[in-house]
Amino acid sequence: MKSIAIFIERRNQKICSVGLELLSETKRLLKDSDNQIVALYLTDKKTDEDINRLETCGADKIITYVDPQFQTYDTLIYTKGLENIIKTNDFDVLLLGSTLIGRDLGPRLSARVHTGLTADATLLEFEQTEERLNLLATRPALGGNLFATIICPDHKPQMATIRPGVFSIEVFDNHKAEKVIFEEKILIKSKVEILSKKVNETAYVDLTKAKLIIAGGRGVATMFPTLKEIALLTGGEVAASRAVVDQNIEPKDRQVGQTGVTVRPSVYVASGISGAIQHMSGMDKSEMIIAINTDPNALIFNVADISIIADANKVLPLLKEEIQLI
Ligand code: FAD
Repeated sequence: MKSIAIFIERRNQKICSVGLELLSETKRLLKDSDNQIVALYLTDKKTDEDINRLETCGADKIITYVDPQFQTYDTLIYTKGLENIIKTNDFDVLLLGSTLIGRDLGPRLSARVHTGLTADATLLEFEQTEERLNLLATRPALGGNLFATIICPDHKPQMATIRPGVFSIEVFDNHKAEKVIFEEKILIKSKVEILSKKVNETAYVDLTKAKLIIAGGRGVATMFPTLKEIALLTGGEVAASRAVVDQNIEPKDRQVGQTGVTVRPSVYVASGISGAIQHMSGMDKSEMIIAINTDPNALIFNVADISIIADANKVLPLLKEEIQLI
């Protein structure tokens, strides 16, 4: 039996979606095997609600590590915590979300335990041989122009960070997990003292949770006020291509794509977006894609369910008027 460990990231005392996404996807990929999926739950306060979520999202075993220093993310403390667990467990694979925390923690930890790490993967596969369970992690390479599948053949655990929002969360009813408490003390102290916290005045938008996304590109750079009105009327969120973010028309947290966020909403409306591979890698798993573009050969039409070949500067105001009539 091989084991796949998944780091369960928490922010503001809550489990982040990416840990649940990774549990669900690993469970789906390994459903007919006897391999074990292990959730690594580092927390200052264990809750039944958290344990229940990890269990129903596919964890076969939950290792809970409670320490007051896990209350707020700290690079040294979390690296030490995961290192302690890894050294007493023989994990074949260790996965983390490619979030700000995972991107900080993953490389440091991989250097600490002398293994390899594939950063920012967007696809996972497992290959079972007689001796090993190989992780095949795919990520965009060379500016997003090709996808590279990377394996780490000689070391364990094979590590990867995976982008949030790429996989869906699934609930496996009646799934039960073995629960273990990890007892080892963290013997180091944080070198950081948090004196106060100030919340950013501009509300941060988590596009990965949006069901409807009204996105605009360079072709509608002047139309963002209209896009925002449509989003407000429909309960959607506005997103943008990098061309728009680079012009400071929209903030970076609205950028969809390889260097932005990966989204999979029920509906993604792409206006004035050409469909560069770096943009599409962040939205092509949306359930329905509606594209508006003047160029009939625009690449975005290759992934669109509904293609509107028209001037978006004319279509969007009409769309707003129609919605207002509903
Ligand atoms: P353009 O490519 O200029 O397309 C504008 C489109 O609007 C055209 O198709 C045009 O026909 C159409 N149009 C013009 N006028 C109208 C109109 N009136 N009505 C309707 N349509 C109209 N890009 C991202 O978006 N996200 C990323 O995360 C990202 N990461 C990158 C990472 C790397 C390493 C690199 C090299 C690039 C990255 N890019 C990313 C940039 C990407 O390659 C494209 O340059 C970018 O997506 C183009 O944005 P756009 O489609 O808005 O603009």
